[in-house]
Amino acid sequence: MIDFGLSEEQRALQEMAHEFAAKEMRPNAARYDKGHEFPADVMQKAFEVGFISCQIPKEYDGGGLSDLDTVIISEELAWGCAGMYTTIMASSLAFTPIILFGSDEQKKKFLTPFTRKMSLAAFCLTEREAGSDAGSLKTKAVKSGSEYLINGSKCFITNGGVASLYVVFANTDPEKGARGISAFVVPRETPGISIGKEEDKLGHRASNTTEVIFEDVKIPAQNLLGKEGVGFLIAMRTLDHTRAPVGAAGVGVARAAMEYAIEYAKTRVQFGKPIALFQNTCFKISQMAMEINAARHLVWHSAWLIDQGKPCGKESAMAKCFGSDVAMKTTVDCLQIFGGYGYMKDYPIEKLMRDAKLLQIYEGTNEIQRLVISREVIGPIKESK
Ligand SMILES: Cc1cc2nc3c(=O)[nH]c(=O)nc-3n(C[C@H](O)[C@H](O)[C@H](O)COP(=O)(O)OP(=O)(O)OC[C@H]3O[C@@H](n4cnc5c(N)ncnc54)[C@H](O)[C@@H]3O)c2cc1C
Repeated sequence: MIDFGLSEEQRALQEMAHEFAAKEMRPNAARYDKGHEFPADVMQKAFEVGFISCQIPKEYDGGGLSDLDTVIISEELAWGCAGMYTTIMASSLAFTPIILFGSDEQKKKFLTPFTRKMSLAAFCLTEREAGSDAGSLKTKAVKSGSEYLINGSKCFITNGGVASLYVVFANTDPEKGARGISAFVVPRETPGISIGKEEDKLGHRASNTTEVIFEDVKIPAQNLLGKEGVGFLIAMRTLDHTRAPVGAAGVGVARAAMEYAIEYAKTRVQFGKPIALFQNTCFKISQMAMEINAARHLVWHSAWLIDQGKPCGKESAMAKCFGSDVAMKTTVDCLQIFGGYGYMKDYPIEKLMRDAKLLQIYEGTNEIQRLVISREVIGPIKESK
């Protein structure tokens, strides 16, 4: 039987996340966006209510939330501020490979501290020459006795400058290309780590994005996740889990924009009547309402599949791609409803439009999501001779 209803616990989680977003995130969003400043006070509060460690399993003292629970709260938090949400989500992105592939000992050692005090993690995959083509990354890890020596540089790393722990993808056997990649847990205090350029971004300005440089960084061999050579698979499995939350963030951003546009359209009078009465406005709003609903259903379905242990590569790509495309289109249309006022920083719409853009880029661009979807939908194609 199909059930579209949320359980009582899920409704309570949704309400709690909404209240947090409305009270702690929204009132501070414009200030942190303008100042391009890290929202340490809001993150401390997010830790206290359990959002930072919400996906860490209960046996390691985390919230133990399912993927469906996670997308429900993701929509609300991104509705509050996408930049602050990205800070929380990027930390979960780094926890996920440890949750999925770490040993019991690694989970205890590396995840439990995040449930004790406010701290963040970062997922280090992208490099200057290896973005969409992550399998071609050049960071190296060379084994020497009971240690690995890591050398290389990662770019565009969310939480790069504020994390206490990195999950780093490095090649242990460069001749094998992507099949030589391995994943390592690297504590921030390890000698040889430095923070490079901090990026000045169009949107998500409350989140910290930096280069992270590894120079002769020595880590114990016990910090290898899984075994050598499975790092690329670890990264891809991780992204299967974390793409639906990006789609959910798209739904949250789009919903926020639509709500602002409806409120504005009902009160802005031109030609003697509220602009909400013009058919052009009504049709735009009904289109966005349809697309937001459709995006939410894709997101929830993809998260549900993961929770059921079913394959979800195509569906999580669809959730991420469609959810973020809806965010982009909706925010552009809402800005148009605001007319010239929407273009000004005095109104919240232009920030939502800037924030929507990143959702189409990170965690794999939407072109890459379309490739993932098409490969599965079309299947193998024989090239003609
Ligand atoms: C603010 C921000 C935060 C980020 N946070 C993180 C993080 O925490 N950790 C991390 O590891 N990475 C992070 N990233 C990196 C992000 O995942 C990459 O930017 C993204 O995967 C794209 O890589 P690229 O920027 O090198 O673009 P490129 O790969 O150079 O792509 C450029 C363009 O070419 C297109 N393209 C590339 N290949 C193909 C193809 N085969 N077919 C069709 N089109 C193609 C792309 O879609 C894009 O439009 C972040 C990025 C940003 C901007």
